Amino acid sequence: MTQISQSVSLDRQGRIAVVTVNNPPVNALSHHVRQGLRDAINQAAGDAGAAAIVIACAGRTFIAGADITEFGKPPQEPTLSQVQDVIERGPKPIVAAIHGTALGGGLELAMTCHWRVAVKTARLGQPEVKLGLIPGGGGTQRLPRLVGVEKALAMIVGGDPIGGEEAKRLGLVDEIVDGDLTAGAIAFAERVVNEKRPLRKVRDLGDKVAAARGKPEIFSEFRKSVARQTRGFKAPEACIRAVEAAVSLPFDQGLARERELFVETLNSPESKAQRYFFFAEREAAKIPDVPAETPAAEIRKAAVIGAGTMGGGIAMNFANVGIPVTVIEVASEALDRGLGVVRKNYEATAAKGRLTKDDVEKRMGLIQGTTDFNALADADLVVEAVFEEMPIKKDVFARLDKVAKASAVLATNTSTLDVDEIAAATRRPESVVGMHFFSPANVMRLLEVVRGEKSAKPAIATAMAIGRQRGKQSERLLLEGASPQQVDKVLTDFGLPMGPFAMSDLAGLDVGWRIRKGRGERAPVADRLCEMGRFGQKTGSGFFKYEGGDRTPKPDPEVDRIVAEVSREAGVQRRSISDDEIRERLLYPMVNEGAKILEEGKAIRASDIDVIWVYGYGWPVYRGGPMFWADQIGLKTIRDRLLAFEKQTGSDFWRPAPLLNKLADQGRGFLDK
Ligand code: NAD
Repeated sequence: MTQISQSVSLDRQGRIAVVTVNNPPVNALSHHVRQGLRDAINQAAGDAGAAAIVIACAGRTFIAGADITEFGKPPQEPTLSQVQDVIERGPKPIVAAIHGTALGGGLELAMTCHWRVAVKTARLGQPEVKLGLIPGGGGTQRLPRLVGVEKALAMIVGGDPIGGEEAKRLGLVDEIVDGDLTAGAIAFAERVVNEKRPLRKVRDLGDKVAAARGKPEIFSEFRKSVARQTRGFKAPEACIRAVEAAVSLPFDQGLARERELFVETLNSPESKAQRYFFFAEREAAKIPDVPAETPAAEIRKAAVIGAGTMGGGIAMNFANVGIPVTVIEVASEALDRGLGVVRKNYEATAAKGRLTKDDVEKRMGLIQGTTDFNALADADLVVEAVFEEMPIKKDVFARLDKVAKASAVLATNTSTLDVDEIAAATRRPESVVGMHFFSPANVMRLLEVVRGEKSAKPAIATAMAIGRQRGKQSERLLLEGASPQQVDKVLTDFGLPMGPFAMSDLAGLDVGWRIRKGRGERAPVADRLCEMGRFGQKTGSGFFKYEGGDRTPKPDPEVDRIVAEVSREAGVQRRSISDDEIRERLLYPMVNEGAKILEEGKAIRASDIDVIWVYGYGWPVYRGGPMFWADQIGLKTIRDRLLAFEKQTGSDFWRPAPLLNKLADQGRGFLDK
C-alpha cells in the first residue's frame, strides 16, 4: 500500500487498483483529499498492471460532502472539478464503492466515476439547498441524466437523501453489494474488465434528459408544488434553473450555467445566513463550562406531571425515542382527556402515512397514565408541566422531592417563573433545572434548558414579554395610519410565517381581551373588535374577515373604519407609514431585547438567541436570526433608529440596551469574535 497524501492511499488487489480515502470523521473533501485522489488516480492510470480502479472510503462513510471549514477561503487547487475531470476522463474504468452517506460533493464525485456500487444502507443525496446553495460539482447536470428530471428535481430541491435500494432502482447505483463492500466493488470492476465494457460517462447519457425536452410543464408543475415551503428562499429556484439547463443545453454549457448559479447562491445573503445558522445550531449544543465528555445520566424511565397542552406533547417526545414515561394528573378525567389527545395526535400522523398502526400502539404502550404520585419513584427524569402558578409548582416540587429517587433530574417547564424559587421547595435544588419545551411540544425541535441562579429567569420569559410589547406596537401602528394587511404583509414578506394580526385572529382575540380586563389594561382596537363580537377566525371576523370557512384573512373595510374611529377618539394624527418603518418598529426591538438577554447572561452566545428565534418563533432561517440580521444591517443604524423612536414617542421602551450602544460605538457586531 502506498500513502499518496495524508488521507489517501493506493493499493492493488490483483489487477484492480484500490484508492482509499481516510479523512475522519466523515471523509470530507478537504484539500489533501482532493490532491490525494488526483495523484492516486493518475498513478493507477499509469500502472500497467492495473486494469480498473475502485474508489472506497475507510471509517463509517463514503465522502459525506465538502469541507465546510474551507468555505469562504480562497479555493486551493486541485478543485473538486479538476479531480472530477481526472476521474471521468481517465483511461481506465473507475468504480465508486459507497457506504454510509454520499452527500453533496461526495455524490458528485461518485457520479463522475464510470460505475457506482453501494450497500443497502447507504444514503445518497444533494443537500446543498439546505445551506442556501445549489450543487456546484455537476450534480444538477449528472443526477437528471441518471435518475430522470422529476426525481432529480425532488432530490436537489428537497435536499433529502435516498437509500441504496432506491438509488439502485433509479439507476443512480449500478449494483447493491451484500457483504464486504470493497470486495464487492473489486468483483464488479473485474466483471467490467472481463466484459470489456466501454467507459460509461454520465455526461454522455442523454436519454433521461431528452425525455423531458419540450415539456416545460414538468418544471412549472414542480415549481407550483414547492412554492409554499420554499417561499423566501433563493436556492430552490436556482436549483430548478440548473436542472432546466441540464435539459436544454449540451453538457458542458449546462455545467457552466450551474457554475454561474452556484456562485450566485454562494454570494447571496440568504446562503450566508443559512451557513451561519448551520454552525449556530451546532454551537448551541455546547456549553462552555460543561465539557463535551461530561457523562450524562442515562434516561431509562421518565415521568411527566400534568397532561395538559404541554405535558402530553412532552410525553410523546419520550415515547417517540422509546423511553417509557409515566404521566401523572390530579384527576382521572384530566388524565383521560390528555392521553386521548396524545392518541389522536399519533393517529393523525398515522393517517398521513408517517407512522404505522403498530407504531401508534407501541408508542401509546410506552405512556402510562396515573393519578398516583408515587409512580414516579423510579424515573430518571421528571418534567413538571402543571399550571403556571408558583404555589402549585412549589407544592408539586415539595412532593416530588419526597418521592423521586436521589439521582433523578427534576425539571420544570415553566415559561415565566423563577427556577431558583421552584428549586427552593426541594432539599436538592442542585437537581432542579428549567426545561422549556416549545408548543406544540411534540412538533417543535427547540428545547431551552435553564440552569439555576444566574439564568434563573429564562430567556424565553423575556422573549414572551417582548411578544406582548410587539402586540402593543402593532396596535400603535394601526392608530397612526397603517392597516392590518399592510403590517402583516411587511412581516410575511420578511419571511415570518404570519403577521401579528392574522396570528391574533387565529388564536382568538377574546383570550387577550379577558386577560387585559383582569389586569385593567387596554388595547383600544382589539378591545373595540371584541366588544363587537369579532373574536377572529372562530367568529368569521376579527382584524380580518373570513368567508365561507376559508381561513385566508381578507382585508375588511369595516376594520379600517373602526381603526379610524379609535384613532380619532385617541387624538392620534394619522399619516401614511412606510413598510420600512413598520419593519423597523416591529423588529428592531427584538434585536434590542436580544442584546439585553446577552448582556444579562441569560444566553451564552448571540447565536443561541438566533437558534431560539428560528426554531421557536418561525424567524426565517435565510435571514439567520435577529442577531445575525442586525449585524448585516449594522448596529449603529439600529441604535440610531431606536434613539429616534425614543425621542419621537418619549417611551423608554425604545431605549437602546447598553450592550447595543457599546457595540454600535465600537463599530462592532454581536457576532464579531
Ligand atoms: P395546561 O393547563 O394545558 O395543563 C396543565 C395540566 O396540569 C392540567 O391538565 C392540570 O390538570 C394539570 N395539573 C395541575 N396541577 C397539577 C398537579 N398538582 N399535579 C398533576 N397535574 C396537575 O397548561 P400547559 O399549557 O400545558 O402549560 C404547562 C406548563 O408549561 C406551564 O408552566 C406553562 O407555562 C408551560 N408552557 C406552556 C406553553 C404553551 O404554549 N402552552 C409553552 C411553554 C411552556
